[in-house]
Amino acid sequence: MLELLKRYFGYDEFRPLQAEIIDAVMGGSDTLVVMPTGGGKSLCYQLPALALPGVTLVVSPLIALMKDQVDALKANGVPTECLNSGMSGEEQSRVQTQTHRGEIKLLYVAPERIVRPGFQRFLESIQLSLIAVDEAHCISQWGHEFRPDYRNLRQLRGLAPNTSVIALTATATQRVRDDIVSQLAMKSPSVFTGSINRPNLRYAVFPNTDRYDILVERLRKHRGASAIVYRGSQKGCEELAADLDEDGIQALPYHAGLDSQTRQRNQERFVRDEAPVIVATVAFGMGIDKPDIRLVAHYDMPGSIERYYQESGRAGRDGLASDCIVFYGARDREREMFFIERIENELERQSAETKLDAIVSYCQTGSCRRAALLRYFGEEPSDENCDSCDVCEAETFDATIISQKILSAVIRTGERFGATHVSQVLTGRRVKSVTDRNHDSLSVFGIVDDYTAKSLRELMATLVSRGLMVRGDSRYPTLSVTPQGRSFLKNRESIELPVLESTKRVSRRARAELDYDYDLFQKLRELRTRLASDRGVPPYVVFGDVSLREMAHYYPQSEDSLLRITGVGRVKFRDFGDNFLDVIRDYAVPNGIEDRTGMMVSGGSRESRRSLNGNSSRNSGIGSSLEETLALLKEGLPFQEVVNRRGLARSTVSSHLEWLIESGKLDDYEGYLPADPDMKRITHAFETVGYERLRPVHEALNGEFAYWKLRLARAHFRRQGVAKSGSSPSP
Ligand code: ADP
Ligand code: ZN
Repeated sequence: MLELLKRYFGYDEFRPLQAEIIDAVMGGSDTLVVMPTGGGKSLCYQLPALALPGVTLVVSPLIALMKDQVDALKANGVPTECLNSGMSGEEQSRVQTQTHRGEIKLLYVAPERIVRPGFQRFLESIQLSLIAVDEAHCISQWGHEFRPDYRNLRQLRGLAPNTSVIALTATATQRVRDDIVSQLAMKSPSVFTGSINRPNLRYAVFPNTDRYDILVERLRKHRGASAIVYRGSQKGCEELAADLDEDGIQALPYHAGLDSQTRQRNQERFVRDEAPVIVATVAFGMGIDKPDIRLVAHYDMPGSIERYYQESGRAGRDGLASDCIVFYGARDREREMFFIERIENELERQSAETKLDAIVSYCQTGSCRRAALLRYFGEEPSDENCDSCDVCEAETFDATIISQKILSAVIRTGERFGATHVSQVLTGRRVKSVTDRNHDSLSVFGIVDDYTAKSLRELMATLVSRGLMVRGDSRYPTLSVTPQGRSFLKNRESIELPVLESTKRVSRRARAELDYDYDLFQKLRELRTRLASDRGVPPYVVFGDVSLREMAHYYPQSEDSLLRITGVGRVKFRDFGDNFLDVIRDYAVPNGIEDRTGMMVSGGSRESRRSLNGNSSRNSGIGSSLEETLALLKEGLPFQEVVNRRGLARSTVSSHLEWLIESGKLDDYEGYLPADPDMKRITHAFETVGYERLRPVHEALNGEFAYWKLRLARAHFRRQGVAKSGSSPSP
């Protein structure tokens, strides 16, 4: 199973409960899984589907979701199809034929299809290994999303009495659970219940007085990542979306008052990363599976904790840290009461009021918000202090010294640079932009080693908000020190700042998350968007943020290294590997950044792997590595000899060589290219297939030449001006 997990999904280990659940399913037992959103439920049937002989039927309520799930599985090389009413008869019979032939491992269908006689005949004619029921709470009228069509599943059980079933849901009370078990006629099922806690979500509540400014600040902090803002009214959605747009934050409205075409288009643009923010009424969210939503903000207080848990739960499905915030004011309760008082049925009215009181007390609580949420759902929190809600985080630290360092660096560099440059100087990065200006000889160069670049940027933002610095409003957000900042320095004042989100990660026991190179991450993100739009799939189908962040931390520069990155399975590697390697190398090599995948703890747990990066592992001797390789190459030593002497991976040396050839730094390189008859064939292949992508060339040559050899050849062509330089930035 672990082998399949790595090959198809690119993951190294199971999440909690996954292994146990998969064991139960493979053992033929009926299984009920209750796990929160983002817990990794899908894998619990997808992996067995790959291991079992026949086909696994997946019942899923929404056609829109189905399509994205199928695309995502296909991108991983898992033979998957769906049958739904949106498809032509021709397409449907193609899928049926493929299923008959045993070419499909997972088949997604909507519940209404099950009762069609044609479909029942089809079912009888195939080898059905497993039935998976997604969003299984839809079967129960006690749940909040009852779908009468789900009752058809009973019949399905009748048709395939010996096929085991796995039912999955994120929210189910005991009553709903019992209902699922009886409706699906599950036989002594194995039940797995995960904690409803979402450890990667950070909860906070703000007074709604300055809510617009706080929202804008939060959205800026997440820099172009996806966010949902919920509003209580349609008019409010429109207005807020327009305001944000005016402030340069692309935001689209989504509510029931829009025609379905506009709604559809806005949702699509959001899912495809074309518009980062959606401002929506509750109508939004059911039909999307976007894993990389970094912020869910409730601009108006939601009406109940149930709703809040569900809506905020759309953040951070991929497990990366994400924010959930609510803006609260006393008027919120009045507004909701206005509606509640109009409920006729007394029991319903009372229940709505009780729920309202619960969410109000969540907003007003002076103790841990996470603990409050868990208790509401009957789960005892393991800790009274979660470390990641606004109440638990309301701590300050003595930021005097680090603030002095930052302000000095801003002054020493002439108050003409932005946060990135200043933090590169402070952390002692010898990148070209720093050395060109001789900023590596300043006294402030490299004086910070206890903060990551990310926490420094955060600190600078805080110092701006405290009025010690200002950010220029020109096209370049240069930092300069205000008179207040100068007197802070001169009088040696001290300053307390709220504990930073990012320093917490380094200094406290909170979950470590990878610190990554934001510039490279952005480049990778652009590539992802481009590849996704070529294929007509959402960007996250290409690679998730987890994978891109790891790439922007470990800088994999060879095939082997890339395969070690989370989420890089065989098929994605084959389809996208080259493109990503090109971008990483074009970024890393000129900056002298080496492949750091060697620092991963192979086979170790992800936690231990992660903890490695807390103390910002900077590249020592940036740039000099490339110089050393160049010196040896200039001596004309054989390639293997250079590799040996450098003590680096062959792929690293070859990427140095590639860059040195292409950039014109090494003149005498013919000896390092493939020898003549080979070179002729390679030249011919490039001429025929084009220079843009290597895989077709590799294939045209029957895979006889390693990619690094092809890269060297391509560098030569580019040097000759035959092929235009790809995405390489001029160093
Ligand atoms: P759920 O259906 O429970 O909401 P998903 O199945 O969509 O959760 O999984 C959430 C995210 O976690 C997905 O991006 C998925 O690829 C990822 N994931 C699942 N299992 C693992 C694992 N074992 N290792 C790493 N990532 C995983
Ligand atoms: Zn807390």
